[in-house]
Amino acid sequence: MDMKRIRRHQSSPAGPSDLESNGASRHGAEKRPASRFLRPVMILLACLMLLLVASGAFRSLSLDRLRRVGGVQGMGEFEVIARQGSENGSSASSSIRKDKLLGGLLAAGFDEESCLSRYQAVLYRKESPHLPSPYLLERLRKHEVLQRKCGPNTELYNKAVEQLKSGQSIETAECNYVVWISYSGLGNRVLTLASAFLYALLTNRVLLIDRGADMADLFCEPFPESSWLLPLDFPVNQFNSFDIKAPQSYGNMLEKKVISNSVDGGSTGSLPAYVYLHLDHDYGDFDKLFFCEDDQRVLQKIPWLVLKSDNYFVPSLFLIPTYEEELHQLFPEKDTVFHHLGRYLFHPTNTVWGLITRYYQSYLAKAEEKVGIQVRVFDTGPGPFQHVLDQILGCSLKEKLLPDISAAHESVVSSPTVRSKAVLMTSLNSGYYEKIRNMYWEHPTVTGEIISVYQPSHEEYQQTGKQMHNMKAWAEMYLLSLSDVLVTSAWSTFGYVAQGLGGLKPWIMFKPENETAPDPPCRRVMSMEPCFHAPPFYDCKAKRGVDTGALVPHVKHCEDMSWGLKLVDQDEW
Ligand code: GDP
Repeated sequence: MDMKRIRRHQSSPAGPSDLESNGASRHGAEKRPASRFLRPVMILLACLMLLLVASGAFRSLSLDRLRRVGGVQGMGEFEVIARQGSENGSSASSSIRKDKLLGGLLAAGFDEESCLSRYQAVLYRKESPHLPSPYLLERLRKHEVLQRKCGPNTELYNKAVEQLKSGQSIETAECNYVVWISYSGLGNRVLTLASAFLYALLTNRVLLIDRGADMADLFCEPFPESSWLLPLDFPVNQFNSFDIKAPQSYGNMLEKKVISNSVDGGSTGSLPAYVYLHLDHDYGDFDKLFFCEDDQRVLQKIPWLVLKSDNYFVPSLFLIPTYEEELHQLFPEKDTVFHHLGRYLFHPTNTVWGLITRYYQSYLAKAEEKVGIQVRVFDTGPGPFQHVLDQILGCSLKEKLLPDISAAHESVVSSPTVRSKAVLMTSLNSGYYEKIRNMYWEHPTVTGEIISVYQPSHEEYQQTGKQMHNMKAWAEMYLLSLSDVLVTSAWSTFGYVAQGLGGLKPWIMFKPENETAPDPPCRRVMSMEPCFHAPPFYDCKAKRGVDTGALVPHVKHCEDMSWGLKLVDQDEW
């Protein structure tokens, strides 16, 4: 069949008489057959159609039209025209308004280009069902003002540094600070930084961070018009020497009676301008007094607190009476602390955002469901280990997160409604990913579902000081947080970050003992909050040991670590 003739026929509805009767012809303009006139238009239309079909590939998140909605009401919104695939293969467009400020959690007015992730994150995430409380929003805005007023390159900062150099505390400093030391693996760092920020918020302190090897390469600035990076000429800089024995630590000063925490003791004159807070997992009994009300009263009078930790110490802040009421107002939903603070603070830099978005669009966007599986193996060699593979599969199949395979090797006829699942695996080792990918390649699934398995990197071992290594680790935590369902490994802060940012309650795989897969292999967690691995067990009033996981309904022991503490929404109990 001559397609050209058909096209010519179809595209020439106007016969000669029509042409002769129109104005152009009467005024002597060149007569042009309609087919010649319309052909370029048709080609253009066809090209446009092709482009639209190609962009329709991003079905669950097609961003083929994205624009900011104007007007006062829409200040914080993107309008996304989402292209949804329908059953007959055609596609339909629907307009979704996305709130790029996350319910007011983020401040408006940042330069968007310098940190694309800040306002684009909303395009990759499902909307959180957890709204930040109005009081949290009010406190965040106030805190931003404080960071601006007292942050680096301000007169007040210079004054506070001068006073720090003098070595003595003063009665009422206008600006007080928490300096966070960059320390430990990336997941640990994210959790301690969120904890330090909450502490800064509770105590009206400015938060400044030691940039370490790569903090500035990984995270955008969270506060508008002010930097959270500790200036390089900050006079206290021997952070490497700060450990459990450091004479500058609050715990050691208490023990040596350099300062006193008794209610009437410890005059302001005798307090130093700064103390080091050693909140690392190996901390001693005197360091742990940080979590007591009387000690908080002393610390309030010290303008500079330099803090080092590798733990998410937020649950124990909830047990200090001084902060009880304030925390309740900030977080009426107790299990949303890291979820909100994490989304507020941690925005990947443009380089990391490139790693995240390219990977997402290449491998994950098209799937109808995204399953994240985070594999972290402690205490043993590099693996892969059969018992870990058994545990991953045992958990995913038992909990019906992934379908079982059919013993047959032949393919089954898939129905047009077949579902596709993308499995994003993260691990230092590629062995588990290879086994699971091959399993779904070599066998059909019993449900007919199509399972694609991906793993962005396999770095083999932890390389804490290396820039690209940490960028990949951050990108992978973030990608996991974009999952619909999540499986994580016990004890891993890497997994906690993903679950908290994603607002996900994962199935957590218990820590294997004696190289055997535990039975059951995993369980669903009570809340999306991270676990505090090294909490104190001390009753400050009674001055004796106590089970801090049994004092209030919203601080419980963790699922993956019997002595750890985590926040849960008490209403769930
Ligand atoms: P945790 O040790 O599991 O609590 O997590 P951390 O993030 O604090 O430390 C582990 C570090 O090992 C990470 O920061 C990475 O440097 C590296 N790592 C562990 N698992 C992975 C992984 O799945 N992917 C990548 N890229 N790095 C990982």
